Amino acid sequence: MIALQKFELLQAAVSLLYPPVCTICGRTIRANEYLCGQCETKVTRIVAPFCQKCSEPFEGSITGAFSCANCAHRTIYFDAAVAAYRGRGIVRQIVHEFKYGRQLHLRHLVACWLRAALDDERLCGLRFDVIVPVPLHPTRQRERGFNQAGLLGELLSTQTSIPAKPVLERIRYTTTQTALDRSERMENLHNAFRLRKNADVRGLQVLLVDDVLTTGSTLNECARILKRAGAFSVHAATAARA
Ligand SMILES: [Zn+2]
Ligand SMILES: [Zn+2]
Repeated sequence: MIALQKFELLQAAVSLLYPPVCTICGRTIRANEYLCGQCETKVTRIVAPFCQKCSEPFEGSITGAFSCANCAHRTIYFDAAVAAYRGRGIVRQIVHEFKYGRQLHLRHLVACWLRAALDDERLCGLRFDVIVPVPLHPTRQRERGFNQAGLLGELLSTQTSIPAKPVLERIRYTTTQTALDRSERMENLHNAFRLRKNADVRGLQVLLVDDVLTTGSTLNECARILKRAGAFSVHAATAARA
């Protein structure tokens, strides 16, 4: 974190010399913003109708609560997984640059999107005892230099005063999930996580956080471990939904 602070000091110094510009198009913007007004309009919120369990948007007109076919055909351990934004276009690009391009300052923008998920009616009335980031395998974390979910969890913790605790650890180095279908993902993730030694989630209302929700398999596996360890409830929030 020391390196990160130095980096931000350097950035602050640089922004005195150069005015801030939109991350996407390079137009001049106000300080402490990341996107210009025009790019901001291309960041799309997920709007109803969507699956009550996993937030998968549904094209067409359905009124009232419903679950998608994927949720109907698997055991869901989380109470709800909420994403506020579509992980397309600009959102996808920003998350990608944050995660793989080492553009760590973008975590503030991604954390704003994550924070927006808490306004969803499935989460906004709830009280959470702990924020739990989805863990990376130690080898992957060394390669990347940070855990994006961990950084987002810390920012969310500062904003909400809910403590963030990395109670889960990833014990299997899994290959990338991208090329796998849903059942292969589940198989690939089985026993990939466990509760850290001396961690105790018994009776707690847990908010699990990650950057992106894709099929929900990772969140579901984490939720399974947390529930098995005695968590009272597990809700998940992500910045975007692929
Ligand atoms: Zn722009
Ligand atoms: Zn669903």
